Amino acid sequence: MAAVATLAEVALPVPLDQTFTYRVPDDWPAPPVRPGDLVSAPLGRRNVTGLVVGVREAAADVTEVDGHRLRPLRARFPAAYRVEGDRRRLLDWMAGYYALPPGELVPLFHPPAPGTKARPRRAAAAYPIADAVDVQLTPDQERAVAWAVERLEARGFGALLLRGVTGSGKTEVYLRVIAEALARGRSALYLLPEIALTPQTEARVAARFGDRVATVHSGLSAGERCRVHEAAAAGELSVVLGPRSALFTPLRDLGAVIVDEEHDASYKQEEKPRYHARHAALVRAREAGACVVLGSATPDLESVRNAIDGRYREILLADRPVGEMPTVEIVDMRGGPASDGFSDALLTRLEASLTRGRQAILYYNRRGFARVLQCTACGVPVACPHCDIALTVHLRPRQLLCHYCGFARREPDTCPECGGPSFLPGGSGTERLELALAAHFPDARVLRLDQDTTRARGSQRRILTEFAGRGADILVGTQMVAKGHHFVGVDLVGVLAADDGLTLPDFRAHERAFQLLTQVAGRAGRESPGVVLFQTWQPDHPVIQAASRHDFAAFAAAELPQREAAGYPPSRRMLRVGLAARRPADVQEAAHRFAGLMRAHLLPPGLEVLGPAPAVFARLQNRVRWQLLVKGTMSNGQRAWLADRGRRLAAETGVDVTLDVDPVGLY
Ligand SMILES: [Zn+2]
Ligand SMILES: [Zn+2]
Repeated sequence: MAAVATLAEVALPVPLDQTFTYRVPDDWPAPPVRPGDLVSAPLGRRNVTGLVVGVREAAADVTEVDGHRLRPLRARFPAAYRVEGDRRRLLDWMAGYYALPPGELVPLFHPPAPGTKARPRRAAAAYPIADAVDVQLTPDQERAVAWAVERLEARGFGALLLRGVTGSGKTEVYLRVIAEALARGRSALYLLPEIALTPQTEARVAARFGDRVATVHSGLSAGERCRVHEAAAAGELSVVLGPRSALFTPLRDLGAVIVDEEHDASYKQEEKPRYHARHAALVRAREAGACVVLGSATPDLESVRNAIDGRYREILLADRPVGEMPTVEIVDMRGGPASDGFSDALLTRLEASLTRGRQAILYYNRRGFARVLQCTACGVPVACPHCDIALTVHLRPRQLLCHYCGFARREPDTCPECGGPSFLPGGSGTERLELALAAHFPDARVLRLDQDTTRARGSQRRILTEFAGRGADILVGTQMVAKGHHFVGVDLVGVLAADDGLTLPDFRAHERAFQLLTQVAGRAGRESPGVVLFQTWQPDHPVIQAASRHDFAAFAAAELPQREAAGYPPSRRMLRVGLAARRPADVQEAAHRFAGLMRAHLLPPGLEVLGPAPAVFARLQNRVRWQLLVKGTMSNGQRAWLADRGRRLAAETGVDVTLDVDPVGLY
């Protein structure tokens, strides 16, 4: 036996703000266990993956620490899985800023099953692309690349907000910036929303950088994730492309970070551990001395504010190098829309587009056949028994479905409210639109893209590839059709209900609506003149007007002062405390108690506690939900105090308490 025992302090992915002490087996081979090592440790009856945060020596015969029996570590993962350097500093920052125990963040920094060997797999079919490398940059694109070169030469952090209309050549800037980083022996991360991670994007990046690129996405097996992780750590990869989870890849000497569609809400992780990948990307870049390019046609107003305040450089790509911006026509639906959701104007345009042999995209942000099934006697829609939400009518398969918890049932024989015998489906969904299209245009080939048609693995890619290859004439779908795709055949985009979303009870409702309208309109006329139709019941609404003119500046100029006046982000920061439990009285009581505690301790100046109040979705999955909001900038210490008190309240009352720092939705 060794003269002394080595003890390791390990952060484990459990919701406790503490580390756990283990004994390092005496017979483990060199090198010795160090902070930053990833290890497998026994916890109860299972083994969990944790991060060594401290190492110390103890007497050789030590058997317990603080009254707990010492157990030996099970295994240590190879050096490729160490969490060190800029990644370790990112983890520490996230633990402080999001008031999370470091152990809860550890799973972000390694693949689901570290060390799994990848099975060989058939190469995916090559996607046809025209990718001219020697494309001439516009002066604005040149300026953006020059900015990055300057930062790379200085090996210093900096952030660029690249605002460019869809099709203005942001991707070309990203690729040049990555090339400049690689030319200096450094590596690059290219983040984009999962939904925009199409075979087209992958092929375009791979065509430029060859086998030094890897893509990370949710479709990869555990073994494939490990292969990318290990290759990056070994310096065999220079570019990693992927959604928010790719941010934690252990690339060596990171020089450039691209955050495409930087406004996209999917950069916010809404389950534990909650974090915003755009914010975290900026921190990782700062810690690595890298430059960050945040790109969007409709940047988040927080990024706009940072640019106005001089924290980011902003460069505007005003024009499309190829093609023109599509013309947007507003169709006033007041006074008698067609019963199946299509105006005469849209049907006429569709007919013309099909006759010319072109393609069309129709956007409607509701899936299913009908929004609700309404009782004809009392008017009450059939609701989910577990959530306070109306069930959506689906035809294939024929059922009523809760879009929040997945509860499904047959149509009832009688109304659960009044016993009435008959029902009518109210409102449309993409399934209904698809059927209506078949009636209007029996010869047209229609594809539908929404959550219902993309359940099978790879089906989203298959539908998009089929449409891009002209395998269909019309693509109808939810916001999945709006993001990032590049379809050369599309010359018509129809937005069935442009004012959908404007009235959501959230201070970001206008911003989200403007973003979506701009994104979906940008799908038209990428290489030839295109037309976009906004069907709307509020044709004069400022958001619809600004979106119809592709005028982000006008939108921001109107919206920022409103946010400021109401004290909402980006003028002030925000934190949401969510409370949930089965029994309404339990949640209500806990919420009031917590509000009292917060008001007593989080004193002004600068902080304001709002609530408690029931959440917008007051009951989901049988859990009653309340919330509290804090406006103003809290310190890490204040957030840590709040998290600690939340854990205590949860332990005492059984009510779930979650902290959401910088929430992106207040539902
Ligand atoms: Zn009824
Ligand atoms: Zn439900």
